[in-house]
Amino acid sequence: MSSPWRSPEFFEVRFKCIKCGICCIGTEMELLPEDIERITALGYRLGEFAVERGGVYRLKNVDGHCVFYDPATSSCKIYPHRPIGCRLYPLVFDGREVYVDRTCPTWRTVPRREIERLGPYVKRFVEDVRATPIVVRLRGLGRP
Ligand code: SF4
Ligand code: SF4
Repeated sequence: MSSPWRSPEFFEVRFKCIKCGICCIGTEMELLPEDIERITALGYRLGEFAVERGGVYRLKNVDGHCVFYDPATSSCKIYPHRPIGCRLYPLVFDGREVYVDRTCPTWRTVPRREIERLGPYVKRFVEDVRATPIVVRLRGLGRP
C-alpha cells in the first residue's frame, strides 16, 4: 500500500482548536518517516528535534515542552510543517479504539464525521511510526 502521509493538510482535524498549546507541553509526539523528511528539509538535524525510544522516534522535549514550542508566544515554530500526529490530535488510538482525548479543552467540538474520516488513519499512524527507525536508516535521514 502506498504512503498516505504525503499530503499533511488532509490530516488536520476540523474542529475548534484554540491553540492553547496544552498538547505541546509534556508530550513527545511520535514521528513518521515523512515527518522526519519534512522537518530535516527545513534544515534541522534529526538529533536536534527527535529521540528514538522503544523503537519509535518522538519529538524531543526541552524544559518540559516540545523543542518546537515557543512558550513566549504559545506557538509552534514549524506550524505549517508540523508532524502528522500533531495534526491528528486530539484523535488518539489506545490499541483498541480511536477516541477524542479529553485533555484537549475543546475536545467536545470534534465532529463525529471527523472521527469517521480520520479514524482509520489514526490506527495506521500508530502502526507506521513503529517502522520509522527502519525507514530512517534505509533512507539515510539520520545523517549529521
Ligand atoms: S490541546 Fe486542543 S485546543 Fe489546545 S492546542 Fe492542542 S489541539 Fe488545540
Ligand atoms: S511540533 Fe508544533 S504542534 Fe507539534 S508538539 Fe511540537 S510545538 Fe506542538
